[in-house]
Amino acid sequence: MPPLIFRKGLDLKDAVAGALAQDYHSALIEEIKANDFRYTAGRLTVHLAREFGFCYGVDRAVDYAYQARKRFGDRQVYLTGEIIHNPHVNDKLRAAGIRFLTDPGEDAARLGADDVVILPAFGVTVADLQQFQDQGCTLVDTTCGSVLNVWKNVTRYARDGFTSIIHGKYRHEETRATASQALKFPNGRYLVVLDREEADYVCDYIRHGGDRDAFLTRFAKGASAGFDPDRDLVRVGLANQTTMLMSESLEIAEMLRVAMRDRYGEEALADHYRAFDTICSATQERQDAVVSLLEREPLDLMVVVGGYNSSNTCNLARICAQQVPTYHIAEPDGLVSPTAIRHRPVQPAGAPKAPVAEIETRDWLPLERPIVIGLTAGASTPNNIIGAVVQKLDAFARLPQ
Ligand code: SF4
Repeated sequence: MPPLIFRKGLDLKDAVAGALAQDYHSALIEEIKANDFRYTAGRLTVHLAREFGFCYGVDRAVDYAYQARKRFGDRQVYLTGEIIHNPHVNDKLRAAGIRFLTDPGEDAARLGADDVVILPAFGVTVADLQQFQDQGCTLVDTTCGSVLNVWKNVTRYARDGFTSIIHGKYRHEETRATASQALKFPNGRYLVVLDREEADYVCDYIRHGGDRDAFLTRFAKGASAGFDPDRDLVRVGLANQTTMLMSESLEIAEMLRVAMRDRYGEEALADHYRAFDTICSATQERQDAVVSLLEREPLDLMVVVGGYNSSNTCNLARICAQQVPTYHIAEPDGLVSPTAIRHRPVQPAGAPKAPVAEIETRDWLPLERPIVIGLTAGASTPNNIIGAVVQKLDAFARLPQ
């Protein structure tokens, strides 16, 4: 029997709605939204960004995971890794008996027709999908439509002989999955650039050529096998990981366009360069909402809530840190006390690419006077976590000084 793939849920939306509400809903956040996104208590004011938290893709992925658990109660259900980058949500799924594969490519070999595998919102590589299908697993595919849109463009680039330049993080599941789409065609190629600095290096090579070996060393982990910059940067198409910083993606698109124009001339540009804006609307709305909040309200500081490996959360924190002191916390527990906060230091663009450890900062909350805090959360953070953050801030503000 061919493997089953569920791409539109499992007809159990109503049956899991109660469990989802219980695990992720927050009455307090609904109240704050109804109160013009403002919470006040004594000397504390919290302004919530007007777009925050769960995006449509995450909402759907978590919903389908709950449906899968309910529908296949008698079978082992697996996730190919984190369904989204939020520790609270992943813990809930583990507690429901869903197992996480550590290396989908290898782990797939021991799965079989009785097993159910949930594919996450950011998708899986073409090779991993094939392997799960070859093993006969039942698949619940939660890949977000916005990610599928990126894949469509990358596939088109490869079909037309263009190398995909992907603005993203080469280790991120979504970017790995997107890059694999470029390899569906025999001459498909990709190159992942993290930021302006890497894009600038590529642009320089496009204009003037350069040291091929140095190029390959620099992009050893972010280029397709057999990549040759002298051959593979002649026709390029740009795509983005959907959760990158919008302003940086637009800048990189322009940098590449100008470099290709300088190299091949305006008239030949269409033969050498293509670009599609593939930042998803949810990411853009959350970034726009914090920009607007920072412009609108005089804030003492910002708290940004979301997994430390959540790309869109890190980018929200980067935007905020340009204007006010910003604390990126993974969980409400990060708010240790009015004098201590555990958080991930915000990394500016071009910062070293090594992993960043959580730190504790003292005297972060100026409670001797009225305080105004801005609050937002990445697309994988549920409302109950954001509500718990507000409750902690409220409790701190009520402590005697
Ligand atoms: S951040 Fe965007 S692409 Fe990713 S799951 Fe959410 S809506 Fe989809």
